[in-house]
Amino acid sequence: MNLLENKIALITGASRGIGRATALMLAKEGADVIFTDFREDDNSKSLEAEITAMGRRCRFFAADASNTEVTMGIADAVQKEFGRLDILINNAGITRDNLLLRMSEADWDLVMNCNLKSVFNYCKAFTPIMLKQRSGSIINISSIVGINGNAGQCNYSSTKAGIIGFTRSLAKEVGSRSIRVNAIAPGFIETPMTQQLGEAALNEWLKAIPMRRPGQADDIARTVVYLASELSTYITGQVLRCDGGLSL
Ligand code: NAD
Repeated sequence: MNLLENKIALITGASRGIGRATALMLAKEGADVIFTDFREDDNSKSLEAEITAMGRRCRFFAADASNTEVTMGIADAVQKEFGRLDILINNAGITRDNLLLRMSEADWDLVMNCNLKSVFNYCKAFTPIMLKQRSGSIINISSIVGINGNAGQCNYSSTKAGIIGFTRSLAKEVGSRSIRVNAIAPGFIETPMTQQLGEAALNEWLKAIPMRRPGQADDIARTVVYLASELSTYITGQVLRCDGGLSL
């Protein structure tokens, strides 16, 4: 028996990286998958095709997750087409790294909107559906950088710390309706986002990881499935570190 049979899941920013691996694993475990990303491209098309080929329903929305109005429209469309939402994963995120002295206001605002406002948007748009159902699992992708900080990432780490506060607050608001809200704090995961850092940075990170390997997108996808499934029915408001021990 699959862990997510007959569940409906939505994940933001899923055309590549952690989001893509998670969307595929959700489908493998039996869920129908709705996913978003900035635009329709070969990545989004191939993901849609892969999920459909697994016999699951799949729906893609080209949408900037930081746009509130567009998000509300997606919630209406999902309500009409699927009638419910069991799992919401706020995964969309970007980096615009720089030391604070060189960080522009535009890069601060962009990262805030993509990484944190997007979580507000999707939770606000979809919790009414979950409240009516009296069930649901919301999973927000934070980062260990939101716990420990990182030079050059004042904007990014603020959003990831903000996601943790948001997760705990919403967990308290909706727990009585059997809606669970948790965060995952990935460590260093090999994706297009971290590829841009280069070989030297990868080796520096590796020295600090007790498990002596970078994380893979599937490591995070498995953690999402755990928090989305019946395996974690009494866990809410938690931040699950998935980092090979990096933050120890
Ligand atoms: P990635 O850049 O490979 O993929 C992110 C995807 O999200 C891209 O397809 C991008 O287009 C999409 N996206 C970004 N902003 C969006 C928006 N506003 N609207 C719609 N789509 C948007 O990155 P990844 O490494 O897969 O990261 C996924 C999540 O995991 C992010 O929230 C990231 O901050 C977090 N994370 C990653 C790592 C890591 O080491 N890779 C570590 C900790 C946390």
